Amino acid sequence: MTTRAPALFVGHGSPMNAIEDTPSVRGWAEIAQRFPKPSAIVCISAHWVTEGVKVTSNAQPRTIHDFGRGFPQALFDVQYPAPGDPDLARAIVEKLTAFGAELDDSWGLDHGTWSVVKHMYPNADVSIVQVSLDFRRPPAEHYKIARALADLRNDNILVIGSGNIVHNLPAFFRAPSPDPQAWVATYDERIVAAVANDPSKVVNYTAQPDAEIAAPDWEHFTPVIYALGAQREGETPTFFNRHYYPGISMTAFAYGLPQ
Ligand code: ZN
Repeated sequence: MTTRAPALFVGHGSPMNAIEDTPSVRGWAEIAQRFPKPSAIVCISAHWVTEGVKVTSNAQPRTIHDFGRGFPQALFDVQYPAPGDPDLARAIVEKLTAFGAELDDSWGLDHGTWSVVKHMYPNADVSIVQVSLDFRRPPAEHYKIARALADLRNDNILVIGSGNIVHNLPAFFRAPSPDPQAWVATYDERIVAAVANDPSKVVNYTAQPDAEIAAPDWEHFTPVIYALGAQREGETPTFFNRHYYPGISMTAFAYGLPQ
């Protein structure tokens, strides 16, 4: 019998999570212990935005340090040498024919992927394929793409959406105190409730109160929709990492964890 892998959404936050010991990092490591090691990972990261749907085809994807120069050298020194999976990439392109998906060998693993997955699988022994976010599409079409990817889970392929439910960087950097603003938790809780009870509100996240301030960055919210679309009949979400910072929520959730 093949194992069905879970689907995850992870709030990734600062790239510094890659090299720091934070509550969120511990949450990622712990969740990976709760299900069998997947045969591969398909990750939809906020940090790969393209015109058209692209799928990484490299056998040895490079570690991309896609953040500003203000970060320490130790972060630029991180390498996460997980293999790619060209066969899986081709299978995904085929699944997404209706969306015009294409193979891409220019990208690799961006920090939306490796800063999280390195804590889940520190030995870099699970292959990873990334699927890009096509900036031309509205949320409802991203949801359709996600639905088309959901079956991958039946082959023990872990689907991960990596972004942030609440992602307002100006608020993060300008915050006068380390305490999060009230709207961070309020919007996060609203989306958590929608994930659990009313998925259509997640797809229509821009119409929810506070969306303008809490979710101004579509590419950080949209990975939530990819996890949502990978949900299978009868599955309920398990929430974890309910950590709040000024302008950022680190909330994560999983479908299909073994009981
Ligand atoms: Zn990010």
